[in-house]
Amino acid sequence: MEFPKEDFETVHCDLCGADDYTKRYEKRGFWMVQCNRCGLVYTNPRLKQEKIAALYDADYFQGHGFDKSIDYVKDVKVHNSKDTFSLEDWDCDWIKNMLSKSQPGNTSPKLLEIGCGTGVFLDKANKHHFNCQGLELSEYAADFVRKMGIPVETKSIEDANYPDGSFDVIVMREVIEHLPHPMESLKTVHKWLKPGGVLFMATGNYDCPERKLRGSDWFYFMPEGHLNIFSNKTMTEYLRKVGFADINVTNQGDKLMEMLRDKGIISPESPTPKKPIERVLFSGVRLVNHFISSGMRIYAVK
Ligand SMILES: [Zn+2]
Repeated sequence: MEFPKEDFETVHCDLCGADDYTKRYEKRGFWMVQCNRCGLVYTNPRLKQEKIAALYDADYFQGHGFDKSIDYVKDVKVHNSKDTFSLEDWDCDWIKNMLSKSQPGNTSPKLLEIGCGTGVFLDKANKHHFNCQGLELSEYAADFVRKMGIPVETKSIEDANYPDGSFDVIVMREVIEHLPHPMESLKTVHKWLKPGGVLFMATGNYDCPERKLRGSDWFYFMPEGHLNIFSNKTMTEYLRKVGFADINVTNQGDKLMEMLRDKGIISPESPTPKKPIERVLFSGVRLVNHFISSGMRIYAVK
């Protein structure tokens, strides 16, 4: 898809405010640039917000938009067809484990998923006794969530008006890279969390070998909608600036974790395995993941 010149805007680095960058990759007429001061990678110039909003239509959620890997309708079908242990279960257990330390005794934590899509994660979190709600821009996707009986508001982060300290857990899976002003949004998220509340995010990892090998062909470069691409360093810097106390940025993509799940090494009963041999395998996979994974899993405690 070609866009006319007037659809674009130029932006400064969202993390440090500088307008001092090096061009790294070109894709479909867009440039991904890297800030010379802090190292953040961002699309510049990028589409104006109203042009981007128009891209997230029903087609997008069925894999016909700029992100061909998105197929929420298929996700829902897969999700509904089997009720087996998935990585979402593992994520829920990992979050509960963290909460048990930061908020002991909280038996029904209030969880908000921002950008909940068709609600596959929320449905799992519900089964794990989180008290769930969603925030989602797309009416099309939100309808799936409402049918599950989970409340969802169709608003942006800027327009949602939750009181400070509303949630014990906030989840943003594959969302932060889409946000035009991640710093502002993370400050809002921090305010919405209770003290001891947990933020869980997943996003791409700029420093992964796949990006180094494939360059602009790296699947995560989708400059129409992926506006900022993070590394361990820039993500940690964001969370530190926003005021999170306990920050854990790990490179844990899905592939090897799925292998651990299929082998029964991670399960709802043991997000961290108990048997010594499985513990060794688990640590090994996470160590390998740290060097090869295209994805980051991020946990931060307020
Ligand atoms: Zn910068």
